[in-house]
Amino acid sequence: MASKKRAKKRNAKKLERKEQRFEPAPTHASWGSFAVGAVGAALLGAGVYAQWLVDEPYGYGLSLVGVGAAGLLGGLWLGNQGLGPLHVGDAGIATEQGEELTRIPWCEIQSVSLSTDTLIVKTGDSTLSIALGEHPQGTSLIVKEIAKRLPARLKLSEAQRDALPKVSRRDGETRIVTELQVAGKRCAASSEIVTFEKDARLCPNCGELFARSHTPNECVTCAQPLGSAAVAI
Ligand SMILES: [Zn+2]
Repeated sequence: MASKKRAKKRNAKKLERKEQRFEPAPTHASWGSFAVGAVGAALLGAGVYAQWLVDEPYGYGLSLVGVGAAGLLGGLWLGNQGLGPLHVGDAGIATEQGEELTRIPWCEIQSVSLSTDTLIVKTGDSTLSIALGEHPQGTSLIVKEIAKRLPARLKLSEAQRDALPKVSRRDGETRIVTELQVAGKRCAASSEIVTFEKDARLCPNCGELFARSHTPNECVTCAQPLGSAAVAI
């Protein structure tokens, strides 16, 4: 019993990581792609009818099929240009494509800036562009969170921030983050590879990863007090 108690004490506390999931808002581009696709589908149907379903084919049937198919494909292509649902919360930012979530923890974000109506999120090796029109509240929440967690990396002026729409905890759909992959990544303090999830400790503020045995007293990325405040996965 005694040994069990000690083992329990050594376990770092876990944090229930929450995030908000935002569906993309319908934009002019998505309505446009719908219209192009719908007209394409109608022309394709008319072309098939004119070419194959009547006893004496009309001469223009094949051209209609060609134009209709191109319109339908064009509409589908345009419809796929948007970002899809966006997640923002304790685990950082995630984009959702079908079943797949691509995560960017806060600590990996080098800068968040605004270019006309697009929020630009840069990491060391990637750039995520999010149209404000597609994710008005998701982008506002990214700005709000990075201002709190890593303020030096926020590159928006006071005026740009004030112009963003208001966002609260009630917006979007609240989810608990369950799928967090850290095994195989490097400890930010020692560069040691963290092989097992149970040996991983995270900064609760910026999500920086440390090996349990090398957790510093202060987070190397956001300078928040760490030590026993580090959380397990
Ligand atoms: Zn941190």
